[in-house]
Amino acid sequence: MNPNPNKKQLFWTSVALVSFFCYLLALAYFPHKSTTACISTWSGSIKDSIRWARGSNATHDATSNCKNTLPNFKFDLEKSSAGWSGPGGHAKEHTIDTFPVSQSIAAVSMHLEVGGLRELHWHAIAAEWGYVISGNCRTTVIGPNSESEIADFGPGDVWYFPRGHAHSIQGLPPTECHFLLIFDNGHFSEFGTSSITDWVAHTSTSILAQNLGPAAFAIKEQVKGEAYIVQGPTPPEIPIPHNPDVEPSQLSHKYRLGASAASIFEGGSQQKVTEKEFPISTTLTGVLMKLKPGALRELHWHPNADEWQYYLSGQAEVGIFANHGRSRVEHFSPGQVAFINQGYGHYIKQIGDEETVILIVLTSGAYEEISITGWLASNPDQLLATNFGIYEEIAKELPPGRRFIVPGNATLCT
Ligand code: MN
Ligand code: MN
Repeated sequence: MNPNPNKKQLFWTSVALVSFFCYLLALAYFPHKSTTACISTWSGSIKDSIRWARGSNATHDATSNCKNTLPNFKFDLEKSSAGWSGPGGHAKEHTIDTFPVSQSIAAVSMHLEVGGLRELHWHAIAAEWGYVISGNCRTTVIGPNSESEIADFGPGDVWYFPRGHAHSIQGLPPTECHFLLIFDNGHFSEFGTSSITDWVAHTSTSILAQNLGPAAFAIKEQVKGEAYIVQGPTPPEIPIPHNPDVEPSQLSHKYRLGASAASIFEGGSQQKVTEKEFPISTTLTGVLMKLKPGALRELHWHPNADEWQYYLSGQAEVGIFANHGRSRVEHFSPGQVAFINQGYGHYIKQIGDEETVILIVLTSGAYEEISITGWLASNPDQLLATNFGIYEEIAKELPPGRRFIVPGNATLCT
């Protein structure tokens, strides 16, 4: 046997192994090197810069290569297979089981007939934020210190029931009421709440009679399990509580988001309800955003909250960006939901001739956002020029401050 070939073989095998190990190390330390195809690099000449500024669609092309590098963030709520239907109303929902990316929000789209009653219940692990899309409804609610409230809601109105507070919702004339329920916990299921009929059905008649008096016998006779939604007569115009002397709550559960003052931008508007305007809403902020045709809710992110969007009317393209070149673009139509993780960069580009209206819920009572134009404007032009590899003269042409919603006909050359 000649030992030399074996030595040579051993040497080259070692070289190959070491090289492969180094390659793995490099991938671990410089993962962006492996995803350069997904990053839109832009460090060309002034000519290139001007071409880009006049509106080439390079950004879109750059992201299309990485369409699937982030998990799905789109859900068709109105076409959800998870739902409930019966006399008095019907509902659809998403939870982490059907929409895994939405860890911090579960949502329900519910319709109640006039007199249809979403029965007395509470939620053990989530607060409930409601938004009326159409029709009218009435809620009853009680908190742990016996603060109670009965209030009527119409389109654009919002309610907030803190976790564990007991409530009901009932459809009012003249037509069915359609509303959205947003829960601040993705693990929560509206179809698994603590309902009064479920509790009564699973409590002995003797305990119930001692607790509620003779009416307990009639209740036990009627209630065999959870009702969820029941159909009743048209509710009276002025509701009177069972005990008319009950103390009303000083902390209202109702806020008229649709009727609140809007921040107006050239490309659209925004109405916002945070804990500041609506003190009981400590865990969620609501936004009603309207985008005119072609408008862009500019590149931004929220340092303190996940974002949930429901498309009320019109269409939009939403692009999200995480890091290491991971991005994803989706299109949205009425009834569809987007979920964007806290800290992920994103934009909303209006599509089509019809104004796009979006209900947005953020998972914090405080509203925080950072927009790209405000960010860039807070830096020296020389730094921006260095960062992008452009001439300082070009950097000076960047917008002078936050644009928030940019109109459809805007260009960076103006
Ligand atoms: Mn509820
Ligand atoms: Mn946002």
